[in-house]
Amino acid sequence: MFLNDIFPNKCAVCGKNINFSKLICESCEDSLFQPSFINRNNKIIYFAGLYEEPLSRLIKEFKFKQNTHFANIFAKMIYKTYKYYNIELNSFPEILYIPSIEKHLKIRGYNPVYLIAKEFSRITGFSLRKKLKIQKGYSKTQVETKSYFERINQIKNKFILKNITIKIKNIY
Ligand SMILES: [Zn+2]
Repeated sequence: MFLNDIFPNKCAVCGKNINFSKLICESCEDSLFQPSFINRNNKIIYFAGLYEEPLSRLIKEFKFKQNTHFANIFAKMIYKTYKYYNIELNSFPEILYIPSIEKHLKIRGYNPVYLIAKEFSRITGFSLRKKLKIQKGYSKTQVETKSYFERINQIKNKFILKNITIKIKNIY
């Protein structure tokens, strides 16, 4: 008798019994991965999946319900996208991540974006750098904002990279 028989581990998407080392089954993992890209202002933006069920639910559970292990699924999806499109990077790529505001970090206890970046760094060996800092004036969590426009406005020009303000013109 295996541990799996006593305490079955279930796929977080379809509920099928899976091995203990897994979070979701292989077929659900395959179905989440829906790579695409768009070209905006001569910059290519890649997507690893579609923000709809079941991916949207997994993201919400990851962000708001302490399901931090899901970072592995998302990092793997980003890695698969990187491989799928054969994305060319410079010889020493660095992974940057958007920091959490202090208040939010205290409430939630973790920065979801950091967890994904850390896992992506582990898979690829790319350096993870904490180079982005938050400017004053970004104090509300994105969830606390009242409208889409308030969300957009509150993060505009609020991140600093080595004393250079990053102009966020388009947010996706
Ligand atoms: Zn499944």
